Amino acid sequence: MNTEIFNVFVTSSQTPPSAWNYVVSALYIVAFGMFIYGLMGLTGPKTAVRGNWIAGIGMVLAIAATILNVPVRNGQLGGPEGSGVSTPTINWVLIAVGLLVGVVLGIPPARRTKMTAMPQLVALFNGVGGGTVALIAWAEFIETDGFQHFRDTPAGPVVAGSLIAAIIGSISFWGSLVAFAKLQELLNKNLERNLVKAAKAFQLANIVLLLVSIAIAIYLAINAANGGGANTWWIVGLLVAAGIMGLFVVFPIGGADMPVVISLLNALTGLSAAAAGIALNNTAMIVAGMIVGASGSILTNLMAKAMNRSIPAIVFGAFGGGDDGAGPAGGAEGGTVKSTSASDAAIQMAYANQVIVVPGYGLAVAQAQHAVKEMAGLLEDKGVEVKYAIHPVAGRMPGHMNVLLAEADVPYDAMKEMDDINGEFNRTDVAIVIGANDVTNPAARNDPSSPIHGMPILNVDEARSTIVLKRSMSSGYAGIENPLFFADATSMLFGDAKGSVDSIVEELKAL
Ligand code: NDP
Repeated sequence: MNTEIFNVFVTSSQTPPSAWNYVVSALYIVAFGMFIYGLMGLTGPKTAVRGNWIAGIGMVLAIAATILNVPVRNGQLGGPEGSGVSTPTINWVLIAVGLLVGVVLGIPPARRTKMTAMPQLVALFNGVGGGTVALIAWAEFIETDGFQHFRDTPAGPVVAGSLIAAIIGSISFWGSLVAFAKLQELLNKNLERNLVKAAKAFQLANIVLLLVSIAIAIYLAINAANGGGANTWWIVGLLVAAGIMGLFVVFPIGGADMPVVISLLNALTGLSAAAAGIALNNTAMIVAGMIVGASGSILTNLMAKAMNRSIPAIVFGAFGGGDDGAGPAGGAEGGTVKSTSASDAAIQMAYANQVIVVPGYGLAVAQAQHAVKEMAGLLEDKGVEVKYAIHPVAGRMPGHMNVLLAEADVPYDAMKEMDDINGEFNRTDVAIVIGANDVTNPAARNDPSSPIHGMPILNVDEARSTIVLKRSMSSGYAGIENPLFFADATSMLFGDAKGSVDSIVEELKAL
């Protein structure tokens, strides 16, 4: 067997490895396989839960391997001994406290959080990851006495890995906290508006902050090459500069761009974890970090494409959600609105050839998915063809609508992606918009002055008639008015989406 491959994982020493080195390597390899297999499961709602479990068990194996690796690296289980000045030890109390804090703070919110609040939970968990990585980098600086004394990992990877991890981890931590606060609506609107203004004025300073972080990193690397021992305040300065940059980059971003930003921050956390893994010579962190970094980057790219936005335009040209460019929230300035009743809506749909259901965030809030499935079944019994139009950022997380509808057993082939269904609206008798708003806003297509101009939308306004189910004239997530609601062919059915669909169901049964 070619033991060189295994040596890369376990030790840089020339002494032959012990059997335990192979056990650690084997555990890591099984864990990586499980991460990747688990991730593959996350590509569809049917296999997602199993995929999550598999990746979770992989993480338990990786943690076990990392703990076992300490006595192995110290030569306590045979094989080569660690050659550095300080020998790593296992502090069981710290590990137990860490696990306890993680379990107590992690499991209850993950269980209790509603699907509609998932993006903020993801932002928070992601921030915790970035913050951990920044702390690891700081700890590594202190542990090596300012990059002076290294254990059994060569100086180059420790220094480069720690500095990269410190910059990206700090940006990701503070940026994710802002994303969380904005999504959770923790900030007072006036305060947010002022902070957004300040952050916008700060755009140039962000570049200066980035350059300052990089300059400190270069100084620390040169200092390390000359024997190390730089003052801790240097790395603190680097963390602070990167952190302020994270805060001020994410502050002005709002509205419809937020999903892309969360995904971008997620990718950054993955990359910073991989860099910290290089510093710690921990293969599990490198592999897991690269998987998160790569999948996060792919998702960011796909979402930006779906929104017809470039990533620099999102990061440097915010719109919506507290932005001055956003239109009136809750205003009804666009003209006259026609309202309709459940019985009229039922009659209109019962005599249609084709009905397209357009679900959005409000469907999730109202938990109307089962009622919608029942309504569709009744329409189909009357010979109406029913399809579902899924916008890539409808709801509050990627795939939100697919998951909700799948929960109600809506067949996958009835759920049509935006590009596949958009050509059908002009041949559709009724489009029924259930709790969707931004993803149907024709201003994105027709109004170059609109803050969401350029974002692809579902062409609901092209249907022969449109029925919109929502509670009021309030704006959607991007905080802008929707001209669809004032169009001649549109009528509004006001009320909670579940209540409205239930009433339509009753009317359909009575027909
Ligand atoms: P929107 O947020 O644009 O609109 C949702 C509408 O649902 C609101 O106008 C609201 O109006 C209505 N609503 C809320 N509760 C109910 C209820 N109980 N019954 C009936 N209606 C209700 O949602 P869309 O899905 O159209 O668009 C998603 C938006 O969220 C986009 O701007 C997207 O960028 C953003 N976003 C998406 C994420 C993702 O990954 N998918 C993540 C983060 C943000 P009213 O109050 O009058 O009822």
